[in-house]
Amino acid sequence: MKYALVTGASRGIGRAVSLALAQQGYTIVMNYHSNHEAARQVAQEIEAAGGKCELCPFDVSNPEEVEAAVAKWTEAHPDDYISVLVNNAGVRHDNLMIFMQNDEWHSVLNTTLNGFFYLTRRLLKDMLTHRGGRVINMASLSGLKGLPGQTNYSAAKAALIGATKALAQEVAPRKVTVNAVAPGFVETDMTKDLDENQLKETIPMKRFGKPEEVADLVAFLASDKAAYITGQVISINGGLYT
Ligand code: NAP
Repeated sequence: MKYALVTGASRGIGRAVSLALAQQGYTIVMNYHSNHEAARQVAQEIEAAGGKCELCPFDVSNPEEVEAAVAKWTEAHPDDYISVLVNNAGVRHDNLMIFMQNDEWHSVLNTTLNGFFYLTRRLLKDMLTHRGGRVINMASLSGLKGLPGQTNYSAAKAALIGATKALAQEVAPRKVTVNAVAPGFVETDMTKDLDENQLKETIPMKRFGKPEEVADLVAFLASDKAAYITGQVISINGGLYT
């Protein structure tokens, strides 16, 4: 049995990634925060397509919850390990820096950056022991370019990119790859408050991306074919910024 843990699997990009990896034969350990109904729907979709999954809700930004969830999973699967980790959970709390509140800053950093740290540190042990694994981090165009109104989000994603590059070098000798994917604008709940008609004029492809398009890239990075790709940040943004 091959296991892939996807954080933020209940909606948007995480949902599409879960479906794509299930198609590749992985049993999906579906993490999400609190939206049980959405997660159950994704689980039904995976199973209807012949795939397998397990629901695993916890707050990635809470180290005790991360530790407890991984310990519980390990106890229930003593002979298995999670060989693919997709750190996808993320939140946006946009504001101009001069108006930004402490909680807007910390919640974004805690989810994207600290969540990556708590969970990856824990699952990496098994990947190193088994001499193989994939860590795929969901960064953003915002972390490469910086976007006004998103100093918190840009900082979190830029830091995630730095961590990706550093960790990739630490674990490469054990055949564990660590890469980041940097989407531009993708049609999900996270972008539904944006003016798509206005923003798509700035995109050379003249449209937002689809979660499935990001998922296909993640699925490739998780596959054996991507064994020699590590420490990279791969943009998927319709030509918006390269
Ligand atoms: P989304 O539709 O808003 O879904 C967010 C997912 O993250 C949900 O499954 C949510 O769970 C989960 N989540 C949020 N906080 C969490 C926490 N503390 N612990 C565990 N799970 C948590 O977002 P999306 O657009 O698919 O974005 C997915 C990732 O892609 C994010 O990292 C985002 O920054 C990145 N990204 C998105 C875009 C875009 O245009 N959409 C562009 C670039 C990068 P619940 O359902 O339980 O709330």
